Amino acid sequence: MHLSEEWYRIYGFDPEEGLSAWEKRLQRMHPEDRAKWQETTARAIAEKSDYEGEHRILLPDGTVKYTHTVGHPVLNASGDVVQFVGIMMDVTARKQAEEALEALRQAQADLARVSRVTTLGELTASLAHEVNQPIAAAVTNANTCLRWLTRDQPDMEEARAAAMRIVKDGTRAAEIVKRIRLLFKKGTSQRELVDVNEVIQDMIVLLGSEATRYNIAVRTELAAELHQFMGDRVQLDQVMMNLIVNSIDAMKGVDGERELAIKSQKAEDDRVLVSVSDTGVGLPPQQADQIFKAFFTTKPQGTGMGLSISRSIVESHGGRLWAADNSPRGARFYFTLSTKAEAPE
Ligand code: ADP
Repeated sequence: MHLSEEWYRIYGFDPEEGLSAWEKRLQRMHPEDRAKWQETTARAIAEKSDYEGEHRILLPDGTVKYTHTVGHPVLNASGDVVQFVGIMMDVTARKQAEEALEALRQAQADLARVSRVTTLGELTASLAHEVNQPIAAAVTNANTCLRWLTRDQPDMEEARAAAMRIVKDGTRAAEIVKRIRLLFKKGTSQRELVDVNEVIQDMIVLLGSEATRYNIAVRTELAAELHQFMGDRVQLDQVMMNLIVNSIDAMKGVDGERELAIKSQKAEDDRVLVSVSDTGVGLPPQQADQIFKAFFTTKPQGTGMGLSISRSIVESHGGRLWAADNSPRGARFYFTLSTKAEAPE
């Protein structure tokens, strides 16, 4: 038996230990990998065959190393194994890089999901709360007003005062709604030169592992030389993310081919047309015209805000967002954007 110095080093032994190290090597093998490794080598001996495998080494100080080993039997003239020649490689760095990359991908996907959920969730909660207050007050005042009017002797003065308060409440609710709409128009908007294909590609990178997790093939068909245009990059990312996440949601549970196809092309009047199609469950039957309404959702955890926000964003960029059935199944969302350089309203 010959063991190279490097072999001792990888196992954390001193070459002086000689062959006693070989006997102790199993103890240093990660307990979870021992049985599989013994099986691999036993089979190679029994079948006189090559072997290959990975196992971890657990050093006394707790360090874990990943190794990759290949071995080859040397046979004599009568076909008996006289020797095995093998190579062991320390692949810890590669493994760690792979694991870090996978963790990073996962984190990115989680982040995309969480940021979508928290933005929409927070927005929904505060929107609901703010609008609810004046509406609740209006209902109370309307009841008061009715009570003054339906008394045996109606008190017109009190009724009028209550009606005035209803007008005030209604105006306040309308102002809140107006403010929210402004938020999606100019308010927080940061206009810069945007390349739509870049938005699509970035969001695919961000959500790619999410698609992979559900066995969804992603296909793109991006027109070359699309005009850049002035837009809010963060908002357009959000639109693309919403459409992709919706497509993934729609395909998660369906059997058969799952494909997400994203296409960009030039359209008339210096416009860009983007389509996102999936082979998912399809638009909710009889309710396809509802999907862009705020709070409309068919999902248990849905907020019903994604499409309504996306539509506001697209419209504030001088475009349109609409949905259609995909053939033979699934849904297809289209949006246009104006590439004219002037800043939209
Ligand atoms: P949420 O995703 O929280 O439900 P959205 O406004 O993004 O909110 O979507 C509203 C509804 O539109 C969804 O609940 C679903 O019924 C429908 N929908 C959206 N995208 C798709 C799609 N790709 N396929 C089928 N239905 C969809």
